[in-house]
Amino acid sequence: MKITTVESSKLSSTDFNTLNFGTVFTDHMLVCEYNDGKWQEPEIMPYGPLAIDPSARVFHYGQAVFEGMKAFKDENDKVWLFRPDENFNRLNKSASRLAMPELPETVFFEGLTTLLNLDKEWVKKGKGNSLYIRPFIIASEPAISASPAANYKFMIILSPAKAYYSGEVRVLIAEKYSRAANGGIGFAKAAGNYAAQFYPTNLANQEGYQQIIWTDADTHEFLEEAGTMNVFFRINDTLITAPTSDRILDGITRKSVIQLAKDNSIKIEVRSITVTELIEAAKKGHLKEIFGAGTAAVISPILGFKHSDFTYEIPKISDAYATFFKEKLNNIQYNLAEDKHQWRYEIVSTS
Ligand SMILES: *Cc1c(COP(=O)(O)O)cnc(C)c1O
Repeated sequence: MKITTVESSKLSSTDFNTLNFGTVFTDHMLVCEYNDGKWQEPEIMPYGPLAIDPSARVFHYGQAVFEGMKAFKDENDKVWLFRPDENFNRLNKSASRLAMPELPETVFFEGLTTLLNLDKEWVKKGKGNSLYIRPFIIASEPAISASPAANYKFMIILSPAKAYYSGEVRVLIAEKYSRAANGGIGFAKAAGNYAAQFYPTNLANQEGYQQIIWTDADTHEFLEEAGTMNVFFRINDTLITAPTSDRILDGITRKSVIQLAKDNSIKIEVRSITVTELIEAAKKGHLKEIFGAGTAAVISPILGFKHSDFTYEIPKISDAYATFFKEKLNNIQYNLAEDKHQWRYEIVSTS
């Protein structure tokens, strides 16, 4: 792997106390080109702007997919990832759906390991601190014909992050807009899925709601995801989350919460849940919690919701599952608890 290091690191001039999520990047990035029908040798270079032809398809047809992961540092300065094989598999699933070439496992893991070793000083110890990892693939071929490109770039960039706090979150349940449809790309981490969410989310913000709970495009009756997270509902002491489908992203946090629920004898049902059932449960006082699950926030409690003329504020409880799962997941991620499913992946130090 060709490695060009920075002449001077930005580390000492970076204020880790005032980090805004996803705005500060480390010294280096990884770039791997796809041309002549195959992925070439990856390269690590100083983080910086790219020169890409304006006709590249990524700009015109949105042929782009990405992943979101985190690196954590334990008390002995060891750096850990959380279930990175899942991110690797999902990146290729997303790429295939967007007619992009799949990435070899070695490019992903050797690239990640080498890059993280170079920039490991950017991973800060202490709960809440992490290094957000953004792998992505874009169509870079300079040609605007509407067909899959012949050239791509796979890249990894790294951004130091503090505990993610989204403020108080109340949600609007979607009655008009959709983020995904049957046969569509909702299950893929495709860039365009996010662009499509911005406008309806802005409308929700104007009404005083921070996020949208997405419903199925046909009937707007089935509860599917919350913003860019999977969503869980606690009715009495049973946790419910929708099964994955074409329309629902197969979240790693989601599947980890399901496993932890089973490990801890919390009743979990993976099944469809409707707006009608939610409102009934709320009216009877059976709705105890709603929370989102995703890498950035880990678990994000939702305090209330609105659907049509019905608004509901969930009464506060002391034994929230949201707190329980966040703690359990963090303890595994920071190497503070037993890892019985082998979810942790050590970035072995090469220096
Ligand atoms: C990334 C993402 C999630 C969460 O997935 P994790 O693997 O838990 O980070 C959920 N829903 C959508 C739409 C996403 O893009």
